[in-house]
Amino acid sequence: HAKQTRDRLAIFQPAMLAKVQQRFIVEQDLKKGLAQQQFHLMFQPIFDGEHETLSHAEALLRWQHPTLGSISPAEFIPIAEETGYIIELGDWVLEQVADVLDSWHIRFPTNQCPSITVNVSAKQCQSATFADDVASLIARHQFAPQCLGLEMTETALLEHSETVGKNLHQLHALGIKLYLDDFGTGYSSLSLLRQYPFSVIKMDRSFIMDIDQPNGKAAPLCRGMIAMAHAVGLTVVAEGVETKQQLGWLRQHQCDYLQGYVLSRPIARTALEDWLLPKSH
Ligand code: C2E
Ligand code: CA
Ligand code: CA
Ligand code: CA
Repeated sequence: HAKQTRDRLAIFQPAMLAKVQQRFIVEQDLKKGLAQQQFHLMFQPIFDGEHETLSHAEALLRWQHPTLGSISPAEFIPIAEETGYIIELGDWVLEQVADVLDSWHIRFPTNQCPSITVNVSAKQCQSATFADDVASLIARHQFAPQCLGLEMTETALLEHSETVGKNLHQLHALGIKLYLDDFGTGYSSLSLLRQYPFSVIKMDRSFIMDIDQPNGKAAPLCRGMIAMAHAVGLTVVAEGVETKQQLGWLRQHQCDYLQGYVLSRPIARTALEDWLLPKSH
């Protein structure tokens, strides 16, 4: 028995150690990463549900680490949150997206520029200067404020609600569209919709995944979320659409926008621009 325990420990420990080490490295290297241009953005196209045409895009952060390779945002964003580094990283994302929007602003007729949404973290939403920072970003750029969308999850909005509320109302007044991300996974989604000036909800992938299960609850819940959103003048994005069946269901049930691998994976800026701005010949 003792040997068994020892063997198990022998297997268990290096894995644990590796994880702790990796976390330590990630924390140390996040700071260097930005200066050394290891970060870039990918853009996932989001499609109109009615016509299945490209409508707008979500910016998703990528980190190419020199030795660890590509690290998922699901892994480094929480660490960046804990260390506070997310503020600097988040600012960088916003600046990048503002530059893309500026370049589009020149190429599209007025009011036809596609929008880009940016994920904002709890630390950003709760920062006393967040809305002012975004206002200054807009002042320094040419793009129209309605071309910028900000996605936030429920957990980002639960603490420091006074500051969060002030930020969200100020952002809305600037003309920026607010998206409630991962909708349906939290406990207070409905009260947040009442409290804050959101324009769009993003139905979480966990619902979409099970939408074609016979007699399951996901489909009626999605139907309910769409009806509810429309009743209060919000639009709905379905995220994580992976199959033709899910796509068909969502289109049939008037889901406004669709996002997922079945339509497109996240793509590079140039690929997105090729799609949005077809060469004239
Ligand atoms: P999210 O905001 O819910 O973003 C959607 C995630 O689902 C993305 O993962 C996207 O690549 C993935 N996805 C899209 N379609 C499908 C699909 O059909 N099937 C599946 N299985 N997945 C799909 P990604 O890029 O790895 O990002 C993970 C999370 O990291 C994001 O979740 C977001 O919370 C966070 N994140 C990404 N970029 C940023 C950023 O710039 N700032 C902040 N604060 N968070 C970010
Ligand atoms: Ca998102
Ligand atoms: Ca989401
Ligand atoms: Ca999600």
